[in-house]
Amino acid sequence: MTPDELKAIVRTVPDFPAPGIRFRDITTLIGHGEGFAAAVAHLADRARAAGAEAVAGMEARGFIFGAAVAVTLGVGFVPVRKPGKLPVETISADYALEYGSDRLEIDPGAVAAGQKVAIVDDLIATGGTALAAAALLRKAGAQVPAALFAIDLPDLGGADRLRAEGIAVEALMQFE
Ligand code: 5GP
Repeated sequence: MTPDELKAIVRTVPDFPAPGIRFRDITTLIGHGEGFAAAVAHLADRARAAGAEAVAGMEARGFIFGAAVAVTLGVGFVPVRKPGKLPVETISADYALEYGSDRLEIDPGAVAAGQKVAIVDDLIATGGTALAAAALLRKAGAQVPAALFAIDLPDLGGADRLRAEGIAVEALMQFE
């Protein structure tokens, strides 16, 4: 399936999680066997082209796409987790949300020095989540050549923010 065909099976849920927000829901995409496989194959092509030696995905929807891309490439997966989930000493990064802030953590031993790690998530909006993940991976010694998303919301500027950090950004589809 083409990215345009995949876009047609993403569900838009109005007024979630707050009034006025149109939530782009990937439940319908990953529930479509052919569509999910095609989305993963497209993302894996881009990760391969970026020379990815490992894939990092953010909890929770980034695990779905990221783990599948890692398996497709035959490389390892690095979970970027919500606070307090990993059983080892972590490194963490705080990032701003619309209201308040949140934190991501990784196991610093999960990446090798100089290893090329591609970030994969379902969607990029402001880019805060992906920038925090990139900062963590770099702090742990990895390189982050690319960040790949099923969906980009370009009006929110996240992809441009990542590019300003030297990270190539690609998404399969865009929504206003
Ligand atoms: P950002 O940090 O780029 O502003 O927001 C991206 C993060 O929020 C991603 O981890 C993504 O899963 C989640 N997110 C924000 N808005 C949406 C949305 O409309 N649909 C989905 N599926 N995830 C969203």
